[in-house]
Amino acid sequence: MTFEKLFEAQSWEEVKSSIYSKTSLDVRTALNRAGKRTLEDFKALISPAASAHLEEMAQLSHRITQKRFGKTLQMYIPLYLSNECQNICTYCGFSFDNKIARKTLSDAEILAEVKVIKELGYDHVLLVTGEANRTVGVAYLANAIKLIRPYFSTISIEVQPLEEEEYKQLVSLGVYSVLVYQETYHREGYSAYHTKGKKSNFSYRIDTPERLGRAGAHRIGLGVLIGLEDWRTDSFFNALHLDYLERTFWQTKYSVSFPRLRPAEGVESPKYIMSDKELTQLICAYRIFDEEVELSLSTRESPKFRDNIIQLGVTSISAGSKTNPGGYTSAPDSLEQFEIHDERTPQEIAAMIRAKGYEAVWKDWDRTYQVADNAVIQ
Ligand code: SF4
Repeated sequence: MTFEKLFEAQSWEEVKSSIYSKTSLDVRTALNRAGKRTLEDFKALISPAASAHLEEMAQLSHRITQKRFGKTLQMYIPLYLSNECQNICTYCGFSFDNKIARKTLSDAEILAEVKVIKELGYDHVLLVTGEANRTVGVAYLANAIKLIRPYFSTISIEVQPLEEEEYKQLVSLGVYSVLVYQETYHREGYSAYHTKGKKSNFSYRIDTPERLGRAGAHRIGLGVLIGLEDWRTDSFFNALHLDYLERTFWQTKYSVSFPRLRPAEGVESPKYIMSDKELTQLICAYRIFDEEVELSLSTRESPKFRDNIIQLGVTSISAGSKTNPGGYTSAPDSLEQFEIHDERTPQEIAAMIRAKGYEAVWKDWDRTYQVADNAVIQ
């Protein structure tokens, strides 16, 4: 059975009502369960009833994370290759109908960005593009990956959903992980937010992680854009998706991100607001539900929130990010995809991590036999 079939058997309203009717006893049952928690436990942990148990959830999440991941935080940084996009997404600064200067980096511009990123100390880069098949299709991505591969031990991508064969090609070139967020599992809401372009095809997007699993991706990143619809219901469907993928493609690793909608040029305010306390609850709920999943937090969040959350379940964190193509070198003032909230440098973030007794890990793994580690950019 495909995930979409499993998903279609569920009703958004029934799931929502089930989450909101969970009781304190349900939360206690979830917290006290020995072994793997169930999806019903996850509902209890994200329910309003669980907010009274947040301290206990935080302590448990902290213990599980330390047991599985140690006192480490993986560091990564996004490299925006292009802001061209053929889709209209009503919440994004790169939307096709937004009249902004469009830019796609040339080889020389990519290498200039890489040079700055390497000087910041990074060994894990996340390549990001809009969805514009003509300009940033597979041929462009393959070229960019070959270009930067000598300089990074881990390359992740967050680009348009692709076909299985296309993913296989990019994995063979050195892509380690692929992030593809469903944005929202609310089908009608999805149609209202994605009014034009390939992204308006809900089914194609929801099938994407399965194409990635079949293509042999090492890690698949999931998430919903918090603020589009009720975050509790959307997060349940994301957890359902994660659970399905882990059972189906058990060789693959998974990560979950928690992007909260941020202001951007030409974009309306979020319809649903999630407080810092609620985001803390959600992160702890994921950790208690799934001890293996990697949890990632970007610079969308405030310094205060990031400082406090890193001991409670998060395993990777970005720092010093620019969300515009050329942002590290040639176009520091061009339009960003969204506003950064934590503007501290990577070194400041690493110092904060050390001060909390953790180690900032710049290198995720080593491709010792594939390329010389000491490649130098001229
Ligand atoms: S969210 Fe992605 S697909 Fe949608 S407009 Fe922005 S860059 Fe394009």
